[in-house]
Amino acid sequence: MPNPSQNALELSMFSCLSDNYGYLIHDPVSGETVAIDTPDANTILKEAEKRDWRLTQIWNTHWHPDHAGGNEAIKTATGCHISGPQEVASKLEAPVDNVLSGGEVFKLGSHDVHVLATPGHTLGHIVYHIPDQNIAFVGDTLFALGCGRMFEGQPDIFWKSLQKLRDMPDDTKIYCAHEYTQANLAFALSVDPDNPDLQAYGETINDKRGRGEPTIPATLGTEKRANPFLRADITDMQSRMTGGMDAVATFAELRKRKDNF
Ligand SMILES: [Zn+2]
Repeated sequence: MPNPSQNALELSMFSCLSDNYGYLIHDPVSGETVAIDTPDANTILKEAEKRDWRLTQIWNTHWHPDHAGGNEAIKTATGCHISGPQEVASKLEAPVDNVLSGGEVFKLGSHDVHVLATPGHTLGHIVYHIPDQNIAFVGDTLFALGCGRMFEGQPDIFWKSLQKLRDMPDDTKIYCAHEYTQANLAFALSVDPDNPDLQAYGETINDKRGRGEPTIPATLGTEKRANPFLRADITDMQSRMTGGMDAVATFAELRKRKDNF
């Protein structure tokens, strides 16, 4: 077994489109380089070239064009191998070589990559978790202090997906696909105003944004204490949102309020 600390993956994070993050991960041992989603083919190809990384794979999280719209151009330019949910092919008609639906474990060099099914934002949405690096690429399922819009799913399946992500270790670094954190903070404070962990996290977020820095990656342990969408089974949150004791109803109410915030 290689020692993971001597075999770390390298990660490049960069802005794409108006508020997407693009990600490349590079395994210096195997030489593989993966683009997590393809918001903007030109930006991603330039970033790989700048780092002298040969792009060999794409891993899609879901079918939306700001996540898979660059598949075809990048495949044409590099011949890379594309993994992703069926919906990328069926809904966007973008190329996918290896269809994933969650529950798979595959290798990137010596690193195990766990695929989690997280329906809700879209029905085929998947997340890529690399436990030995404490990193997860969560697409539009979970954001710092927020979650994705419920375009295709229902509250019960979305809540189950968030619980699945919440089960990852607290020190997992969460790489989501958008810089929405400051807007999410305003909403979170409106539904959980007396949460000291949220207040402290909010100061850190405002400081970072004030300096023009990204707030990503978020840390799962902090999100568990501050992100209202991960707290739909906390009694205080339930009584504030619905007066009841039902996590699914509380999640649904939070999502509805955020849509209208
Ligand atoms: Zn999306």
